[in-house]
This record gives sequence, C-alpha cells and structure tokens, in this order.
Amino acid sequence: MSKYMNQVINDEILEKLNLKNRYNFLNNNLMAILTPGQFSYLKKVQKFCMRFEKKNNITHGPEEDVYDWIPAFGAEGYVTRAHNFEIVDVNYDYYGAVADFLRYLAIDMFDTQFAMGSGATALAINPIVDHHENIPERLEALKDLVTGEACGCICITEPERGSDAVHQLTLCDEQEDGSFILNGEKVFNTNAPKSKWAVAYATAEANNGNLMAQFLINTNWEGWNCERVNIPWTPKLYLGHEHFVNLRVPKEYVLGGIGKGREHLFEGLVLERIGIACGAISQCWGAVSHAAIYANMRKQFNQEILKFQGVGFLLTDLWARTTNVTLGILKFCEEYDKKIEKFGGEIPSNISRAMVASASQFKYHCTKLSKEVCYEAANLMGGAGLSDNTMMHDYVNISRIQEILGGSRQIQQYIMSLALRQLFKML
Ligand SMILES: Cc1cc2nc3c(=O)[nH]c(=O)nc-3n(C[C@H](O)[C@H](O)[C@H](O)COP(=O)(O)OP(=O)(O)OC[C@H]3O[C@@H](n4cnc5c(N)ncnc54)[C@H](O)[C@@H]3O)c2cc1C
Repeated sequence: MSKYMNQVINDEILEKLNLKNRYNFLNNNLMAILTPGQFSYLKKVQKFCMRFEKKNNITHGPEEDVYDWIPAFGAEGYVTRAHNFEIVDVNYDYYGAVADFLRYLAIDMFDTQFAMGSGATALAINPIVDHHENIPERLEALKDLVTGEACGCICITEPERGSDAVHQLTLCDEQEDGSFILNGEKVFNTNAPKSKWAVAYATAEANNGNLMAQFLINTNWEGWNCERVNIPWTPKLYLGHEHFVNLRVPKEYVLGGIGKGREHLFEGLVLERIGIACGAISQCWGAVSHAAIYANMRKQFNQEILKFQGVGFLLTDLWARTTNVTLGILKFCEEYDKKIEKFGGEIPSNISRAMVASASQFKYHCTKLSKEVCYEAANLMGGAGLSDNTMMHDYVNISRIQEILGGSRQIQQYIMSLALRQLFKML
C-alpha cells in the first residue's frame, strides 16, 4: 500500500488490499493454469517480495528510490530470468521466457515502476548474452547487471529518430586499433542516469541503416554526458538524455561492428516486445486485484458495490480479458522456451521472423488492454482509486506510457500489416 497524505479508504478495506491478498487473488486465478513447477516459482518470488516489503518498511510512497532495491533483487536472480547465465557462474535451475514472465508478474504487483526498471536493464543484458564472445570485459558487465551490482540501459532512440530507429544520426568512427569514437545524441533511455552499463547503437554514415554498429559502454567513460528526462507518469524512473562527445569505445566492447548493428537491433525485438506485453498484463492483474477486493467490500446503497451490475459486470469484463490474454502470453512463452531448447539456444531465423509478428501482436494488444483495464479498474474504485492510498494511481499512470516505448502502437500495426502481406504472398 502507498504512503498516503491522508487516508480516505477505511481501515478494514485498506488492510485487505495488502500485497499478500493481491497475490492470493492472482494465485487463485492461475492455480489451475500453471504447472506445479511454474506455480511454485511464482510463489517463491512473491514470498521474497512480501518479506522484502515488510523487512524494509516499504510503503511505495513518493520518497522511495526504487533503484536502491536492485542489489537485493539481483542477488536472488530477480533482475531477469530469461537465461541461466552459467557463462558468468550464475546458475539458475529455473529460467526462460515463462520464468521471466512469472518473475515479472510477482514483481510488478509488488511495485510496477520498479518492475519496469528491471525490464530496461534486461534490454542491456540480452545483447551481451548474444554477443559476449567470452571476452572478459563483456562478461564483467553481464555479471554486474544480472546480479544487480549495477543497472543498465539501452540507447536506441534519438531526439530526431524515434520510430524511425534504423536511420540514426549518432555517428561511430572506427579507429586503427579497432576502437570506435562515438558522437551524437540519444534520448528517453530508461535507467540511463542510474546506469553503469549502456548498450548503444550508432552508424558509420548518418541515415544509413546498413552501416549501424552496436556498443557496450561504461558510463564512467569520458564523453558520456547524461541528464535526466522527467516522465511525470513514472516519477520514480530515471530516463536519460545523452550527449556522446568523442566517446571512445575500446574494441573489447564492440558488440557488433559496422554492418551488424541493424541485425542486432532486430534480434532483440521479440524479447523486448514480449517483455513489455508481460509488463502490461501484469499491470492489469495489479489493477484488477485491487478493484476486485475493493468492490467486494465497499458498500453503497447498503450493498457491496460488486452486486450492482454496472460495477460487477464491468469488472468481469476486465477480469476475463486479463485472464485470456495471460493464457496467450503463457502459451507464447512456453513455445519460445521449447524452441530455444530444441535448437540449442538459438531460434532459426525463419521461425524467429514468424515470432516477430506474434510479439508485435502481444505488445499491441496488451498495452492497449492495460491502458483500459487500469483506468476502468480505478474508476470502479471511485475516489479511492484515484487517491494515493493504494498503488492504483501508479497502474493508471504507467499503463499510459507502455504503448509508446518499444515501438508505438502505430508501429506495431505497421509491422503486423507487413506480416499480413507476407502471409498473403504465402497463399
Ligand atoms: C517511458 C519511456 C521509456 C522509454 N525507454 C526507452 C529506452 O529504454 N531506450 C530507448 O532507446 N528508447 C526508449 N524510449 C523511446 C521510445 O522507444 C520512443 O519514444 C518511441 O519509439 C517513439 O519515438 P518518438 O518519441 O520519437 O515518437 P515519433 O517517432 O516522433 O512518433 C510520434 C507519433 O507518430 C507516430 N508515427 C511515427 N511514425 C509512424 C508511421 N510510420 N506510421 C504511423 N504512425 C507513425 C507514432 O506512432 C507516434 O504516435 C522510451 C520512451 C518512453 C516514453
């Protein structure tokens, strides 16, 4: 529950809205759907979050810095579970896309802004996993990020190049010793002002997507200049606006040389979009669990408001859509994990391409759904849902930004329309 300025929800309801009960609501919904292994992992992460909240007296109030929590979660392996990271001697017995979805569900219900920050660090982790080539400098960064020793960010967007991410203006100039000098500007990079490690893209020639390259950057290096961008709907997250001024990247940190950047950019998009979809559906659960508890307790006209059709039926609609899309994501994640296993860690490009459209569908659908579910669930809670007494305001706010990041709604629709064209050509 939030640290509030003034309590407007009665003691009984406010107490009932605690994290344990919200988790129980989720678990009772998922019990029949998840395998015993999946369910016990979900409960394990939840247990950690409940203990962490209690032990540290976390109120989710405005004064708390969510970045302070990263080391504790990292030590448990809760920054990301997409991989097992044996390459840096971190061996999780349970990992993959499903594991990461379940991790996200539990952490988002604990604190949604904190969960989104971990998602951005994962975006820096994934390209290092794919392109570390056993180079110690890269492995050091990977270990820092995975274990929560440091936070990470990804720098794709530029002030003049947002949706059009392949026509970048940030320049990279290759030196004789294999290092690169970077000059240019990036913006809206989640976690950047708090990050030790950044993964960034640049090009050897402005606007030429074929000449893009990908770099791992230590933000302590000279030439990395970062200022915070304020996104009022996620006030606890630090986004960056960076100026690269003759920023030298030694060759050990070049994840993909000239000509490799675009391929590396696209390769990360399936996981990035599914990650955003998992986040969005987790927000739906956070909002529905609040509203379901509240509507079962709040009385007006001498009755629990759930019993009024206007409330109860709307809530069932939000709940049904949230449950159904959760099943869809789970199926996608299970298939993804099976394919990774079957093909020894790397999904063949033709299958991966087919998954791009699927990932766009989920990103599009879940973020649109979350925007509606979070708002409507808060609406069902009346003034209480808009107050600072619970985390509902966080859900309403964060659900309004998810459609933009990771490719806007229109860009997902554009990608899907290209896929429809491909499908037609296959007839
Ligand atoms: C909270 C937040 C976190 C973010 N985190 C990161 C991050 O970690 N790393 C990073 O690199 N970036 C990040 N971004 C940037 C994000 O990816 C971009 O904002 C996004 O891709 C859109 O780019 P833009 O803001 O320049 O909008 P524009 O590209 O200028 O788009 C403006 C509008 O035009 C529409 N539009 C553009 N092109 C087309 C088209 N061809 N067809 C139809 N409509 C179109 C868009 O849908 C949008 O509605 C983040 C942004 C936000 C808000």
